Amino acid sequence: MPPLCPITPYKGLFFLVVAFVLLEYLINTFTNSKPSVYFNTTKLLNNVDDKEIHTYGPLLKTLLFKNNKTHPHNKTLHFATKNDSYYSYAVTVPPPQLGSKLGNTSTSVTVPVAIEAQNDSTPLCPDDISSNLKGRLPIVKSPVPTAQELETRFDWLRPGGRWSPENCRAPKRVALVVPFRCRGEHLLLFLQHMHPFLKRQQLDYRIFVVEQDGDGTFNRAMLMNVGYKEALAVERFDCFIFHDIDLLPEDDRNLYTCPEQPRHMSVAVDIFKYKLPYPEIFGGVSAISTEHFKLLNGFSNSFWGWGGEDDDMSNRIRYHHLHISRYPLTIARYTMLTHKKDKPSASRYDVLKQGQQRFDKDGLNNLRYKLVQKKYHLLYTWILVAVDAPS
Ligand code: UDP
Ligand code: MN
Repeated sequence: MPPLCPITPYKGLFFLVVAFVLLEYLINTFTNSKPSVYFNTTKLLNNVDDKEIHTYGPLLKTLLFKNNKTHPHNKTLHFATKNDSYYSYAVTVPPPQLGSKLGNTSTSVTVPVAIEAQNDSTPLCPDDISSNLKGRLPIVKSPVPTAQELETRFDWLRPGGRWSPENCRAPKRVALVVPFRCRGEHLLLFLQHMHPFLKRQQLDYRIFVVEQDGDGTFNRAMLMNVGYKEALAVERFDCFIFHDIDLLPEDDRNLYTCPEQPRHMSVAVDIFKYKLPYPEIFGGVSAISTEHFKLLNGFSNSFWGWGGEDDDMSNRIRYHHLHISRYPLTIARYTMLTHKKDKPSASRYDVLKQGQQRFDKDGLNNLRYKLVQKKYHLLYTWILVAVDAPS
């Protein structure tokens, strides 16, 4: 009798592999562990380094939370509290060349996501913060610091230009929105002044610098609308402080807290001899709750060039039966950094006059822009945006 065909070690290995693959296939089928949602994770893996990684936080957050219920691979996300105020997710993603199934093991990327730790046991911050404050402050106009100097000095910031009290919960979250173009020195002086100022007030805050791309006619109001929308796309804010880059508060008793009624903040500016130029004024620095800003339909998008948009907002406030609140002249004091005066827009009075007919259709609800860049620098969140001037 010829011997039974022997199972060679080579063939044995082959059968073992086939059996293993079959087994894994069956397990996968029955435990339904195949992702039903496919993401393009290539972007997540390209150029991921310590600095850039923050860019991907909100992107991933949206992906994960939109698909929270349906995405079976949520099971494989590891939640790890990085510190008291934000989580990091360890997400397992494939190498770029293998396509886009999230969760197919290979490479692991840890992506910090801007989600606040909701630790209710943290006590609310005390109302009285007066012991932190200094009152009148020196205004430093020179030397102009470098961004690197400020990053070293303010190492307590978190990427995106944010800070919140360490041992207590601030009652509200504040977004500062700064319209910007071509004022690099002012930006550095502003950041140097504002970060310690806001920190002393024990605020939970974040600074957004919204820059208009290109050299078309400037639209300050539109940039502030963009700031509102983009900030809320990142996280929750209870109010917004719209802030000219060249106005530095002279007294830290001027609290940048969320207002009950829209608050005009730059009441007494040095170039106006520390007097309110006219009672309806709402330009310079102003604070509006998120809820009211929505009710007001934001700023008008129709004011191209210098002037008018702040007076239009003042009219919107009155039209909606809200009123402008202010701190006293002795506290709400500002120094304006020097700059060349822009030529006022010739059409601003005409646009202002027709304002009321447009309040409900010109603002947040007809805002069009192209987001060119969004980056989380240590000192601020930078939003570069293209807007189309009417032809
Ligand atoms: N702004 C800017 N670049 C410009 C024009 C205006 O960054 O070319 C921003 C900046 O925040 C500035 C604000 O818009 O503080 C208001 O403009 P400007 O300071 O020229 O107005 P004024 O002080 O004359 O009211
Ligand atoms: Mn100015």
